[in-house]
Amino acid sequence: MRKIRSQVKAVKTTRAAKITFALNASLCQQAENWLNSQWVQHNYTYNSLSGLIRKSLAAYQNGEITINPTERDKFAPKREITVRFGLVPDLLNFYYSLPYSQRTAIVEESLSAYLDKINQESKELEKYRKIIEPKSKKVFFHPRQNFTCDKCGAGFQNETAYSYAASLGKFTKTYCSNCMEE
Ligand SMILES: [Zn+2]
Repeated sequence: MRKIRSQVKAVKTTRAAKITFALNASLCQQAENWLNSQWVQHNYTYNSLSGLIRKSLAAYQNGEITINPTERDKFAPKREITVRFGLVPDLLNFYYSLPYSQRTAIVEESLSAYLDKINQESKELEKYRKIIEPKSKKVFFHPRQNFTCDKCGAGFQNETAYSYAASLGKFTKTYCSNCMEE
């Protein structure tokens, strides 16, 4: 009988179940770049590559992502990554329920699909942030004007008017110095 070369090795310890995978090295690099981009923004939703891989597999388990393990490039350079499953026994059981010969491919494709998903989500969030936090507008000074403040309604003569437009037109909103400071 042909000896089946072990693709993954399961190490059970008293504290945590750990599995070491040989995953696509450039995918791991992409994942780490993404993690770094989150950490510099003080987002610690994912605190390690191992955690991100767990989330990816869980997303596949929950049907949040679709994957195609046949797309996997088996010959791409690999990197060994150890994932701790100790805290999520359900996920470990799910992992062991996967077809033996496809496990690593499924983990790798899940990570790839999950990265696409969260990348897309953070782009959407960035768009939303730009809408709710418009850049502070440039303020222009117009000395010696007769104007009515569009915020407090007070009238001014020969005073400095403030506006967000470089020149004052009939419909340009003008503000007094008090309202501008707020
Ligand atoms: Zn005012």
